[in-house]
Amino acid sequence: MLRFEKEINFIKNHFGNKDFTPLHEPCFSGNEKKYVLETIDSTFVSSVGKFVDLFEDKIKAYTGAKHAIAVVNGTSALHMSLLLAGVERNDLVITQSLSFVATCNAISYLGAEPAFVDVDTKTLGLSVEALEDFLTEVELKNGKPFHIPTGKKIGACVPMHTFGFPVEIDKIIQLCEVFHIPVIEDAAESLGSTYNEKHTGTFGLFGTYSFNGNKTITCGGGGIIVTNDDKLGLLAKHITTQAKIPHRWEYKHDYIGYNYRCPNLNAALACAQIEQLEDFILKKRNTSKVYNEYFNSNENIEFIIEPDNSRSNYWLNSILLKSKEDRDQFLTETNDNGVMTRPVWGLLNKNIMFEKCYKKSLVNSEWIESRLVNIPSSVIL
Ligand SMILES: *Cc1c(COP(=O)(O)O)cnc(C)c1O
Repeated sequence: MLRFEKEINFIKNHFGNKDFTPLHEPCFSGNEKKYVLETIDSTFVSSVGKFVDLFEDKIKAYTGAKHAIAVVNGTSALHMSLLLAGVERNDLVITQSLSFVATCNAISYLGAEPAFVDVDTKTLGLSVEALEDFLTEVELKNGKPFHIPTGKKIGACVPMHTFGFPVEIDKIIQLCEVFHIPVIEDAAESLGSTYNEKHTGTFGLFGTYSFNGNKTITCGGGGIIVTNDDKLGLLAKHITTQAKIPHRWEYKHDYIGYNYRCPNLNAALACAQIEQLEDFILKKRNTSKVYNEYFNSNENIEFIIEPDNSRSNYWLNSILLKSKEDRDQFLTETNDNGVMTRPVWGLLNKNIMFEKCYKKSLVNSEWIESRLVNIPSSVIL
């Protein structure tokens, strides 16, 4: 008899009793084939085409952001946002160590370094108290924020809305404003999540979304930068398209540009997916409700619910086990029996590239790292 047999059977049954229940499967139930075929027929499969513009318009309409710039993935969206926010070589960028590696990789592309601040156990994202504590080590010199212990300039702050749960973004921005620190929201996982009825990703100077295959909606590979800043919005579009000065035939450029524009082929897929986004989120929220009711009576497992004042897209449902030993047993039993589950990412400061980075106490991050498991969360049609 397995220790978690009841839980395994419950999950299997909720997702239709298949031999294998994946963690998060993409769902193509709308106009995907139609739009992709239309793109091929038009021959405009690359970075010029109507679906790229449509993708951006749909994201603007959905999130309420003033500008949206479609790029090749969520990592490049972060890279460009950090660059345009003014992050420079040797800067520190405040972020959480409980995140996917892409957050810190993007910081590193600019020669900057993450400074790790703890997360909140309710939101799983950057903790307001821990940030407040870190900021006691920061002073303004000529209007720029400097970190006293390391002597480094602070380039930006990147909170991440973990698994779709919104961080207390208004408070984070208020704190950062005092020290003129731009906030970039890594909203890769939280498209459709709202905080005080406003979309995650639209609070900071920039927000970034990912459309990778495992996210709530996908276009194969893709990302979006959103901003309400007119100048930076235009510049983002410009530098992600090799910074070419528009002209009918001349090739002239005025910045070191990047080939980061989202191809029309991927944008076509994205457009079809966005049409279904709200429906997917409602279905995902229904699964989370079923899970919550089920785990409520379980003393050994806590199901994580959305924090106050927010709506989560419940990208990946998450549970907390009582100990690391319990977690490991749950992971083994589920994965041995056709139910795919995953632990949260290993803390980023434990990876060799980020071992020496500045960090504050990460007790909450450590606690979550040893107990959290993601359980199946695909959309059920
Ligand atoms: C998925 C993800 C990214 C990167 O997105 P890609 O499209 O895979 O490059 C960045 N940050 C977080 C937190 C993510 O989950």
